[in-house]
Amino acid sequence: MARILIAGAGISGSYLLRLLIRRGVNPKEIEIVDPSPKTRCGIAPCGFAATSHFIPLCQEVGLNPEKYILRSLDVGYLDKIRIEIKGIFSIDKPAFIRDLLEGVEVASSPSGIAAERIIDATGIARAYIGEYDSDLLVPGLQRKVEFPHPPQARECLHHVGYSWVIPLEGNSAHVGIGSMTYDIDAMRKAVEELAEGAKTICSCQGYVRSTGPILPLVQGNVWAVGEAGGIAEPLSGVGMVPAMVSAKLLVEHWDDPEGYEAAILGEYGWFRKTAAILYTWRNGGLLPIWDLGLWKKCAEFVGFKPNISYLIYRYMVPIVLQLPSVLQLLRSARRS
Ligand SMILES: Cc1cc2nc3c(=O)[nH]c(=O)nc-3n(C[C@H](O)[C@H](O)[C@H](O)COP(=O)(O)OP(=O)(O)OC[C@H]3O[C@@H](n4cnc5c(N)ncnc54)[C@H](O)[C@@H]3O)c2cc1C
Repeated sequence: MARILIAGAGISGSYLLRLLIRRGVNPKEIEIVDPSPKTRCGIAPCGFAATSHFIPLCQEVGLNPEKYILRSLDVGYLDKIRIEIKGIFSIDKPAFIRDLLEGVEVASSPSGIAAERIIDATGIARAYIGEYDSDLLVPGLQRKVEFPHPPQARECLHHVGYSWVIPLEGNSAHVGIGSMTYDIDAMRKAVEELAEGAKTICSCQGYVRSTGPILPLVQGNVWAVGEAGGIAEPLSGVGMVPAMVSAKLLVEHWDDPEGYEAAILGEYGWFRKTAAILYTWRNGGLLPIWDLGLWKKCAEFVGFKPNISYLIYRYMVPIVLQLPSVLQLLRSARRS
């Protein structure tokens, strides 16, 4: 195989690198570059919550998942509703990425040697595949904190988004929020409330691409993978497992761009529908009742066991939260 440039050493780029090496590609044929994000943990901002799909994906590249699992989350809270969880873990993502990259040097910029194939694994940057006009990027703020006692997993609904507590090792947790209010003060306040009584270790902020798969995924010799291709679930912001799965699909369809796009749409085409819910919610439109099935699918996808109170709450709260904007719309319609 000829020279390959992987741009981005996040989870999609690093996982793809490891898959290629395991399938016999000479590491000398691969150049991987990343200017490295400026966070304390050395990787792009992330809550570190992964579903059970992480386990076989990890084993597939010869790594032991047990090494990375920090905490198995069996029970959580949606605001005050107790929900059962089926197989969500928090993982030591920086250690996982370090192991994926073992023995390979990550350059901070490309050498300039022409590459036959460029993999755009640059996440929200889409540095090689190019910008997308209808992109939907949701801002997120997060802190790693130390509570005085072991924290519980939590999700609290916020206008066009939600805040979270993801327990990590010991008493530590990621406490954060992703929301399309773009009201950074309100978002900070929500995080402060959840982190009450805890000591802050570090903080970061970033965006989640909430657009769904962006076609074409392949343009000329540039192939997009992971979040660069829009492969993250828009309502939940879950992107780690989809990033790894997309890398796997890319390798399986290495010389077949159409097959790769079809495989991504087959697996994650429904992300476009959850992106549409997000658009409707953001624009103050009414969420149709038939979307309830999608909320359920999404809850199951992220590892929640959605009981009826969960579903009603998850569906009704956005409607209640959007009431002020709906009323405002009605008032301005009556005036005109
Ligand atoms: C606050 C927050 C919390 C999240 N929490 C979770 C969670 O709990 N669970 C979950 O599954 N998902 C979560 N996500 C989403 C998840 O982190 C991403 O979807 C996933 O990491 C995408 O992986 P990636 O490798 O495609 O992109 P990234 O992880 O973003 O990696 C992209 C890499 O490309 C590099 N890069 C950028 N520009 C260039 C360039 N020009 N050249 C070379 N390299 C470049 C960056 O430095 C970065 O290292 C969260 C996201 C945010 C913002």
